[in-house]
Amino acid sequence: MILLGSTGSIGVNALHIATRFHLHVDVLAAGRNIALLNKQIQQYQPRMVVISHEEDRHKVVHADVLVGEAGILEAIERSDAKQVVNAIVGFAGLKPTLHALACGKTIALANKESLVAGGSFVDTSKIRPIDSEHFGLWYLLQASRPLRKMTITASGGAFRNWPIERLQHASLRDALKHPNWSMGQKITIDSASMMNKLFELLEARWLFGVGEYDAIIETRSLIHALIDFQDGSTTAHFAHASMQLPIAYALCDRVDETILEPVDLVHVGSLEFRAIETERYPIWQIKEEILKLPQLGVVVNAANEAAIEKFVAKQIGFLEISTQVLQAYAHFTTPPKNMDDVFLLDTEVRRYIALL
Ligand code: NAD
Ligand code: MG
Repeated sequence: MILLGSTGSIGVNALHIATRFHLHVDVLAAGRNIALLNKQIQQYQPRMVVISHEEDRHKVVHADVLVGEAGILEAIERSDAKQVVNAIVGFAGLKPTLHALACGKTIALANKESLVAGGSFVDTSKIRPIDSEHFGLWYLLQASRPLRKMTITASGGAFRNWPIERLQHASLRDALKHPNWSMGQKITIDSASMMNKLFELLEARWLFGVGEYDAIIETRSLIHALIDFQDGSTTAHFAHASMQLPIAYALCDRVDETILEPVDLVHVGSLEFRAIETERYPIWQIKEEILKLPQLGVVVNAANEAAIEKFVAKQIGFLEISTQVLQAYAHFTTPPKNMDDVFLLDTEVRRYIALL
């Protein structure tokens, strides 16, 4: 496989699965954690390595080191591996996704931003999602019956129990205290604002087609997806909060052995469900509307990335991430007509947010 984002939370889990199922790792691509990258190079002996910054090149212990986005695209082209695991963060993942598809590879896709931004112009038949909720939906959909509604769950993120008046003053450190999952910084912030769940609904829409989609909070993150069938039955996908199960399914054709221990419901005792309220999660206001015009995902994604940069730089408060995304969403109302438009719109929206 070609593993993009190997030193991140998904990347490290993907390497666990690669070891367990004896999958060959042909390319490792990472950002600036060169110490960990060097350990991975030693263990997995890839043919090529890609890093994000030229100035780190001399620290990498490998004979074939490529750099930057161009380096990722070149590695995808040169590698014989049939599968790309895309675990890069943000819009930067879109070009590698497109290039991997153009080179005839299949993609195990953690980089949901690829689909949020460009989903209408991407052939999803070659994509297997690495996301617990989409894995859950896919699992439940194996019982092919007429269905009514697909629901994914949210944890509620770091601020689910905070008094709403305090959200204004929430710091980056506060936002990173996720109650159930250990993940990279950006997705943890997106969980706190509920942006992540909005993105996952858009991701689901591109993966599973037109239909009724919704999300609810399940505070333990033990149920990941539910399906209401036409006959009145509802099925739910339970599994412990670990990405190894979705990753194993995205990387292997069959998974017949134990990846996780099953959830012990008596031990769990009880579960709690909550509605996602717009007062705490203002971005939820646009949920119904954007699901009707999911092509506008590129606007929300670009605005969110730009606003998060400002939040991390302490230029805006936590709630302003959502406020500024909503402002951009109100301003940019024309959906892109093709992939070139997606890239143009992404740039324009970032410029708009920078000037707010
Ligand atoms: P992370 O921050 O832990 O890791 C990101 C990895 O990508 C690192 O190796 C980093 O060095 C590398 N990287 C980032 N930008 C890069 C660039 N421009 N070029 C080269 N390398 C780059 O993030 P993560 O939590 O692993 O998330 C990765 C993606 O997976 C995100 O899109 C996220 O939404 C998605 N995802 C994550 C989880 C999870 O449990 N962590 C679950 C579902 C989906
Ligand atoms: Mg998820």
